[in-house]
Amino acid sequence: MKTITRSTCCYCGVGCGVLIESDGEKITGIQGDPAHPANYGRLCTKGMTLPLTVASKTNRALYPEIRINRDSERQRVDWDTALDTVALKFADIIRQHGPDAVAFYISGQLLTEDYYVFNKLAKGLIGTNNIDTNSRLCMSSAVSGYKLSLGADGPPTCYEDLELADCVLFAGSNMAWAHPVLYRRLEAAKATRADVKWIVIDPRRTDTAAMADLHLQIQPGTDVALFNGMLHHLIWEDLIDPQFVAEHTDGFAELKQLVRDYTPRMAAEICGITEADLMTAAEWFGRSQGALSLYCMGLNQSAHGTDKNLALINLHLATRQIGKPGAGPFSLTGQPNAMGGREVGGMATMLAAHRDITNADHRAEIARLWGIDTERLSPTPGLPAVEMFNAIRAGKIKALWIACTNPVHSMPDLNLIREALDTAEFVVVQEAFLNTDTVPYADVVLPAATWGEKSGTVTNSERRISRVRPAIQGPGEVRGDWWIANEVARRLEAQIHPARFSLFGFANEEQVFNEHRRLTEGKDLDITGLSYGVLESHGPQQWPMPIVEAYGETRGQARRYEDGVFATADGKARFNVTPYLPVAEPTNSRYPFHLLTGRLRDQWHGMSRTGRVPRLFAHTPEAALTMNPLDAERRGLKAGELVKVSSKRGGLILPLGLSDEVTTGSVFAAMHWNGQFLNSGGINESTIGAVDRKSFQPELKHAAVRVERADLP
Ligand code: SF4
Repeated sequence: MKTITRSTCCYCGVGCGVLIESDGEKITGIQGDPAHPANYGRLCTKGMTLPLTVASKTNRALYPEIRINRDSERQRVDWDTALDTVALKFADIIRQHGPDAVAFYISGQLLTEDYYVFNKLAKGLIGTNNIDTNSRLCMSSAVSGYKLSLGADGPPTCYEDLELADCVLFAGSNMAWAHPVLYRRLEAAKATRADVKWIVIDPRRTDTAAMADLHLQIQPGTDVALFNGMLHHLIWEDLIDPQFVAEHTDGFAELKQLVRDYTPRMAAEICGITEADLMTAAEWFGRSQGALSLYCMGLNQSAHGTDKNLALINLHLATRQIGKPGAGPFSLTGQPNAMGGREVGGMATMLAAHRDITNADHRAEIARLWGIDTERLSPTPGLPAVEMFNAIRAGKIKALWIACTNPVHSMPDLNLIREALDTAEFVVVQEAFLNTDTVPYADVVLPAATWGEKSGTVTNSERRISRVRPAIQGPGEVRGDWWIANEVARRLEAQIHPARFSLFGFANEEQVFNEHRRLTEGKDLDITGLSYGVLESHGPQQWPMPIVEAYGETRGQARRYEDGVFATADGKARFNVTPYLPVAEPTNSRYPFHLLTGRLRDQWHGMSRTGRVPRLFAHTPEAALTMNPLDAERRGLKAGELVKVSSKRGGLILPLGLSDEVTTGSVFAAMHWNGQFLNSGGINESTIGAVDRKSFQPELKHAAVRVERADLP
C-alpha cells in the first residue's frame, strides 16, 4: 500500500516541502508539497532525485564499527559496545586532560533536535564550548553581520519579499544554481513586472549574472569598496532617509566620514568596473520602493566576510530599505538547517537561543533552565572550526566526534586537516555514508539515519520551521543522530557526574524540541507558541512565534523590525565603519591566478548523496578548472588537457575547461569533487585557512594559485 509522508528536502536552505511516496519498505517517489510556503509544489533536480539517494545500501554505514588500533581494520560491534567505548574514552580523556581536550565538529545537515542534544552534551554535561559545525564555513559572517548591525541574528525578511522587491541585488550568490526554487520565484516575479531591476555582483558571469540587468563583475574580494562607493553616491544624490537614520540608527556620522574617500571613481577602480555602472547600481537601489539584497557564500566565505555583510547592511539602513515589504538584507543559508543550529547555540561562540557565552547572565539563565550549576558552563568561547583542527594538530584536543560532515573535503588547506586527524588520539565519525574522505580516520563509526528515515525539525532561510518526517525505517542498525548523542551522553553522565543522572532523559525528538522551545522564552527567537502539534495542524511556521495575542497561537512573524525598533539595547540599529581590505592572499608572480570556488547546479557538498544519482552528472559530468580562453592561449594550454592547479599549500590535477565566464587572471573550480572522484581531496587542497577575525569563517572563496600543464608519469 502506498503511503504519503509530508517532509522537507534535506539539501539547501530554501527548505522545500516534499511529499514522499513509500510502500512501507522503500521510498518509491517524491513530489513538491503544494501546501509548503517555501516552494508551493516546486522542486529542483536535486530534490526530485532524493529517493535515489536512499535506494541502495551500497556504501551506507549500516552497523557500528570499531577499530582496536590504527593498524587494524574496523570491526562490526553492537550498539552498546560502540556507545560504551565512546563514553569511556571521552570520560578518560576528560579526566586526564580536562573538558577542553575533547571537541565536536557537527553539521548544518543535522536536525534541530540533533543539534540541541549535541550542544547540551558538550556545554551542559562536559563543560566545554569546543563544539563547532560546518555552518562555520557557510554563514557565520552573516550571523556576526546581523548581530553587529541589527542587534540579533536572523534575516529580517521573508520569501514573500522576493515577489515584492523592485530592486534585487544579488551579492556573491549564484542563486540560479544554489537556491534554484527561490530563483524560479524571482524569475516569475520579474516576468510579470516591467519595473524590476536585477543587479548581480559576482567576479564570475554565472547563470544568475547572465540574467541581470546590471552585472558588476568585480575583482575578487572588493565588495566592501563597492558598497562604500555606492553609499558615497547615495549620500551625494540625497537618496538616504535622514529621518530614519536620525531616529532609528546610530553611527552614521563616523561612516559618512569613511565613505567620503570612496568616490565612485576610486571605488570602481578598486573593483575593476566602470564608475557609471557603480552609480547606476546605487541609484537603482536608492530609488526603488523595495530593495532586497540576496547574499550567500561570495560574501560570507571571506577573511573580511563580516565587513562585507556590514557594508551591505549599511546601504539598507541608510536608505531605509529594511523593515518593509520587499526590502532588507537577506542572507541565504546554504545548508538545510544552518539556521536551526544557530537557534540552539550549536556553535563554539554562542549559547542556546541566541545567548552569548561571555555573558554571565546568559550562562546563569541556561544553567537554571538545564538545572545545572552555572560553573559547569565555561565562560570561554570554544574553538571555531579552523582553530579546532589546529588545536588537534597541536595535540591540545585529543578526541574529536564528527557528525554528519566531511571535513577532509570541506575544510580549507586539507593537508592540515589530515594531519590533525592523524594526530588525534580518538576520532568518532557519525555518518550515514561510508565513502567520505573522513571515514578512514574513524576509530569508531556510528551509523546514522538519513533523509527519509529520520524525524525532527529544520529552519530554512526565512526563519521557517518545518517538520522532517520518516517515510521508511533506515537500513541495518542506523539510528537518529539525536538518539546516538543522547545515548552516549547518558553513559558519559554516569562516568563524569554520577550524582546527577537526569540531563538526557529524552525519549523522543518531540521532547527535545519542547525543551529547546522552553529555552527561547522571552528571546528574539521566542517559539513558545510553537509545538509539534501546531506544525502538524497548521504547517511550517516562522519565528518569532511567542504565545501572544499579536501573532495568535499559530502564526509566526514574516518580517522583523517593521516598527523600526531593532534588537539592540537602545532599539537603534548600528552603522559600522567598514574600510576595504584586500583578500588574505593576493596574487603574485609565482601564484598569478585568483582561484574562485563555488557550486554546481546538480551536486551537493561532498557528493555523498548526489554522487549516488547518475542522472545528476548529466549537467556537469566531470571536474574541471575553468580558465579564460585568453589566459589559456597565452600559456599554450588547450581545453581538455590536464593541468595542475596549486597554491603554496597544495594542489591537484584537473582537466582544463575554457570559458569567458571568468575574467583573465581568475580561474574557477567547483567544490564538490573529492577523493571519490579524484586522486586528491578536491579544490580545498589549495584553499587557505585564513579566517575573518569577527566570524572565524575561512576564506574558502579565494586563494592565489598557479596553473601549469600537468607533468604526468
Ligand atoms: Fe531541495 Fe533546495 Fe532544491 Fe528546494 S531548492 S528542492 S530545498 S535543493
